[in-house]
Amino acid sequence: MEERGAGVEAGAGSGAGRRGVAVVTGGGRGIGAVTAVELARHGWDVCLSYRADESAAAEVLAACEAAGARAVAVRADVASADDVTALFAAADRLGPLTVLVNNAGIVDRRARVDEVTVERLERMLAVNVVGAFLCAGAAVRRMSTRHGGSGGAIVNVSSIAARLGSPGEYVDYAASKGAVDTMTIGLAKEVAAEGIRVNAVRPGIIDTEIHASGGQPDRAAEVGAMAPVGRAGTAAEVAAAILWLCLPETSSYVVGTLLDIAGGR
Ligand code: NAP
Repeated sequence: MEERGAGVEAGAGSGAGRRGVAVVTGGGRGIGAVTAVELARHGWDVCLSYRADESAAAEVLAACEAAGARAVAVRADVASADDVTALFAAADRLGPLTVLVNNAGIVDRRARVDEVTVERLERMLAVNVVGAFLCAGAAVRRMSTRHGGSGGAIVNVSSIAARLGSPGEYVDYAASKGAVDTMTIGLAKEVAAEGIRVNAVRPGIIDTEIHASGGQPDRAAEVGAMAPVGRAGTAAEVAAAILWLCLPETSSYVVGTLLDIAGGR
């Protein structure tokens, strides 16, 4: 775990953003990167995590700071309990946590269920499910009125794959997002009376580098063209919905919702 960002050294817990601190996992690229900057523009200080791409995270950090926020980027694998502990400790040094965007997630190569290895399954579930749970638990321990916090919002980044199942591509990924949906519903009910609103977004095909990481660099254009709207979505279109779910003035009565952002799929 490494961290960088002037905010931690300069801030030491003082001068927190108007809205407190937002943790965005996987905030170095794609949907998480745009979301981190949007939250910074709307008054949050930002603690973002990434797994490996330090230069991408540094660019997002600079963009958050240019938007007026204090920010820190932490190399932290969400599948590691120790890394998650360090990630939230870095957020604590910025100020009180009020938002978690559980965004970090992975796909894998196209494969049928009868071809999937146990190593692949364990990694997929460790990042997409265990990681989301570890971060949600850390956030609840800080934001819940039961623990002395003053409330906040958790937005889980699921996928429309949870409904479609992704046959012939990655049923394991789809199932991991099904678990995220169920966690969203259960946790939302568990902490609603403790000041925390938990919701999820379920993007369809969004034009990010995740498809290349799964060995299909042209997937966004090809599958996006088959969506009813005839194109892939953008990270900005997902980030706008995440922001809406974070802002109490726009979504104060929205709890346990799975918001599809999938161009009609
Ligand atoms: P992306 O462009 O591949 O970016 C993923 C980000 O997550 C990167 O910052 C990456 O870090 C980070 N990350 C990956 N594994 C991590 C780990 N174990 N611990 C911490 N950070 C990790 O992905 P994206 O398309 O923006 O996807 C973001 C979320 O949206 C994922 O949960 C994905 O399942 C979901 N989603 C995406 C789509 C789509 O079509 N794009 C559709 C539905 C749902 P590095 O930069 O260091 O690699």
